[in-house]
Amino acid sequence: MEHLPCEKILLADSLGIKLQYCKKCEVVELELGAITIRLSPDSIQRIANIMMKGSLKLDKVNQHVQSHTEPQFLH
Ligand SMILES: [Zn+2]
Repeated sequence: MEHLPCEKILLADSLGIKLQYCKKCEVVELELGAITIRLSPDSIQRIANIMMKGSLKLDKVNQHVQSHTEPQFLH
């Protein structure tokens, strides 16, 4: 089988986090700074869901600890 060069499509890019899709490899790459995680396209929906659930839960947990703080992003 011929090895074709990667054809990456940028899906999302925010705060140094990039999500790219390679049509040739059929792989989604999640770039977190120096770390790149390769995922199957059908698993990113599940990962997005679990991140969303976790994020909402974390908000609730933090609301009990500190009530009036602005949400902060880690750099
Ligand atoms: Zn590729």
